[in-house]
Order: sequence, then structure tokens, then C-alpha cells
Amino acid sequence: MHTLISSPPVVVHDPPPHPPPHATASDRHGNVALDCDTGPVRVLVVEDEVRLSAALKRGLEAEGFTVDVAANGSDGLWLATEQPYDVIMLDIMLPGINGLKVCQTLRQKQVWTPVLILTAKDGELDEAEALEIGADDFLSKPFSYTVLIARLRALIRRGASARPTVLTGAGVVLDPAARTCTLNGEPIELTGREFAVLEYLMRRIGEVVPKNEILQHVWDFAYEGGDNVVEVHISALRRKLGASTIETARGSGYRIVDRPNLERLTRVSEDA
Ligand code: CA
Repeated sequence: MHTLISSPPVVVHDPPPHPPPHATASDRHGNVALDCDTGPVRVLVVEDEVRLSAALKRGLEAEGFTVDVAANGSDGLWLATEQPYDVIMLDIMLPGINGLKVCQTLRQKQVWTPVLILTAKDGELDEAEALEIGADDFLSKPFSYTVLIARLRALIRRGASARPTVLTGAGVVLDPAARTCTLNGEPIELTGREFAVLEYLMRRIGEVVPKNEILQHVWDFAYEGGDNVVEVHISALRRKLGASTIETARGSGYRIVDRPNLERLTRVSEDA
């Protein structure tokens, strides 16, 4: 069984490792920063429950992460905008600006740091809304510490590598910030999941994306259904975008192939 974190501190770990010898600088929090990609992972925790944020800070530091804590939405938004983080944990219910608004504002400011939203209950509405406004993942309290670390590491691996404002190709123009999709200039209505599947494929346009990767990315790790849910959504996308837009590749993957003759019909908005 996993340990459950609600609000009391439950994280018991060895002390954080000493900074590696090639550490070069300390920031204003006294945290050691490195000058290369192998430096410590920086995590921002935006959480107003003091005991929970303290437990998270201790636990994440024991994993070798560098952790900043903000106790309200305004501070969280400021830190997330001003400082480079590898991942942000964002509670929804916060004093001042709530977590969803913080996330939405970050995306509007073109800050694409991966965001894990903490939801206070099994609120499907919160979770759907979190994905709609550009969060990358969510976790319901109380949560398993093991699952939390796995989720954070997955988000960090995926990274925030400069998401383009608008994804284009194969006649499709997909704007993750505005949540809009057009095909050859015509607006296409997509459900949240359809949008997420299409976005994942568009981010890797030209590549064969295995079905199980789509499943893991778009659906929850805890999702126990089969991968035919991916096929169902691919079918729906093909009905809306044309059958040839998404190719089925050998070995049960999918690929969007950019076709220049369609792409020239698109108009990409830079200021979306
Ligand atoms: Ca809270």
C-alpha cells in the first residue's frame, strides 16, 4: 500500500543529499543551482496548507529536488513567472488567486512549465477544467507519495521545451492556449480528450506515436480500461479531420503526416 498524504506530514526520508561538488551558485533562497542540464530539478509548490507544503518540501528535497514554496496564488504566479522551474505543483483552493487561474494566467503569459494540479476532492469538474486551462496532469488529495513522485518525474522528463504558440501541419492549426482547432481555416469542435490526443500527435508531427504512449499521456495512470479508448478517439478525430489526416502505422501507432499542399492553405496566427 502507498502512504497517503492528506495534510499531516507523512514523508520520512533520509536527509537531502549534499550538493554535488560542481555546484556553482546559490539563488536568493540559498538553494544551490547548477550551470548545466544535470543540475537539480527545481520544483515550485503552491499550497496554502502549511503542514502539507512543509512535508512536500522535505520529501521532495530528500529526492534531490530544489523546492520553493508559495502559500498563495499571487506569490505562486509571481515565482512561476520570474523563476525557471522544471515542474509546478499547484493546489486549486488558494487564498487570493486560485490554482486554476494561476495556471491559466501562466499559459496566457506563454509560460509552459509543466503543471501538476492538486485537487481537493474527486472533482471531475475540477480535473476537466484543469486540463482545459492548460495543466499537464492532476492528482486528487489525499494522494500517494509514490504516485506523486512518479507523476512529477514523468512531467519533468516530458519537459516544457518551448511549446509553440500554435501547432500547425497537415492543414490543422491547433492552438493549445486558446483551445481552438481549425482544418484548412474552418473551425473544428473537439472534446477535451480529442484535443489532447490531437495535440500530442501534432507535437510529434511526422513521428509514429505508439498507442500506449498516447494512453499514458492523455489518460490517467490509474486508467484501467483497454487501449481501444485511443482507437475510439482516433476514429472521432478522423471523422472530423478527414480519414487521411491520421495514419495508422505498423506496430499499433499513429502518425500525422504534414502535407505541404494542405499546409499552405492555413493561416497561422502569431498573436493568439
Ligand atoms: Ca488549499
